[in-house]
Amino acid sequence: MLDSSPAMKRVFLETYGCQMNVADSETMAGVLEKAGLTLTDRPEEADAVVLNTCAIREHAEQRVLGRLGEFARLKQRNPRLVVGVAGCMAQHLRKRLLDSRSRVLDLVVGPDGYRRLPELLQRAAREPVAEIRLDRDETYGDLEPKREPGVRAWITAQRGCDKFCSFCVVPYTRGRERSLPLEDLIRQVEGAVASGYSEVVFLGQTVNSYHDRTHDFADLLRAADRVAGLKRIRFTSPHPSDMSDRVIAAIAECPRVCPQVHLPLQSASDRILESMRRPYSFAEFTEVVRRLRSAIPEVALSTDVIVGFPGEGEPEFQATASALREIRFDSAFLFKYSARPDTRAWKWEETVSEDEKGRRLAELIELQHGISGEIHDAWLGREVEALVEGPARRDPGQLFGRTAQFKAIVFADDGTPAGALKRLRVVGATPVTLFGEPIATRAPGARVTIR
Ligand code: SAM
Ligand code: SF4
Repeated sequence: MLDSSPAMKRVFLETYGCQMNVADSETMAGVLEKAGLTLTDRPEEADAVVLNTCAIREHAEQRVLGRLGEFARLKQRNPRLVVGVAGCMAQHLRKRLLDSRSRVLDLVVGPDGYRRLPELLQRAAREPVAEIRLDRDETYGDLEPKREPGVRAWITAQRGCDKFCSFCVVPYTRGRERSLPLEDLIRQVEGAVASGYSEVVFLGQTVNSYHDRTHDFADLLRAADRVAGLKRIRFTSPHPSDMSDRVIAAIAECPRVCPQVHLPLQSASDRILESMRRPYSFAEFTEVVRRLRSAIPEVALSTDVIVGFPGEGEPEFQATASALREIRFDSAFLFKYSARPDTRAWKWEETVSEDEKGRRLAELIELQHGISGEIHDAWLGREVEALVEGPARRDPGQLFGRTAQFKAIVFADDGTPAGALKRLRVVGATPVTLFGEPIATRAPGARVTIR
């Protein structure tokens, strides 16, 4: 039983990083509430603050360290405040964080320790606690997350990663790859639909390598597609090397699986791909793109690219720029290489200066911006179906939604409720947003001639 001393009642939980962290925070929130703790969105009212952190790039870590400085000041005013760091940074920086002389932190909990979070927080109120063991079997498949409100439910299908790309910290911070049983995932999908969510997004670092010893990712997509009441299914991130024909066929054949695939390229130079330990050549990557586009005609593709990896000279960089021109992704997440402790590339000499990384990044941003704009312009005049999410952030008189290709679209508020599908004609476009107009439907009571 939990020690229900008045010391620990309200927890402030803040999330950094990817959607997988958002989903982890929802798991933590579920665990905390089940133990009788309440969540607050005001850190100054909390008995404990927990930052769910990201270690993927140095910049992400700096932001968390800055936030911890703010909590140090809060702790000066309220010495009983328990300060915790969860997630990828906890695993990674455990020693430095706990040993820090001006100790702010009371709790460090890695991605596999969330089941015991209430108990760990109670203990951390008395003494510093580090729970950083990685557990090859922990999937949280049986836990009920407390989901953020919205139209989209994030469902972690797979945890950890076995690929060990030479730049990436994930296998060290999140441990080995493991998949949740298909039955648990379908139960989560059904639960999300029963709670009013219209869309589910399956998450995993290489989500298409999903395998629960019986079912593969194609089975999961097909099983989710059969769940009554569910409107849309997405997934992120698939790995190019795990894009089997079975998975492509499932995406193509399941009506609720959206025609949208995020396919991280990282670099188009075979030499750089090899030193990144990405298990494909550029030609093999383009072959995956070809198979996807021929099976799913309207598929929208996005990607991740890293510029300035050690050894990337101008020719290798230009190969990547040409690849963006050739493949014409709908959008791209473009990153400057950031050396991460523990990874293989950490020990390698950096060969590209920060200035040069910045120049390469700016060049790709401009290039991709133009391509995204042209792709959006090609949607002008076409009909799309948007899943409505609610009022547009910039203009509450407009509604915001996403097309099947995950393109942001706004249109005049006509009272369509969040979670509904709405047919729109595209009447305007920028590289990031489409503008729509409702397609005239039959007026109520209008006469219909049946031949
Ligand atoms: N699992 C996915 C894959 O393999 O394609 C990617 C997951 S990772 C969390 C998201 C993206 O962050 C990567 O695709 C990569 O582009 C970027 N990334 C990872 N490590 C990085 C590093 N050390 N420096 C810069 N970008 C990095
Ligand atoms: Fe990181 Fe590579 Fe795994 Fe993606 S596949 S999470 S980049 S190690």
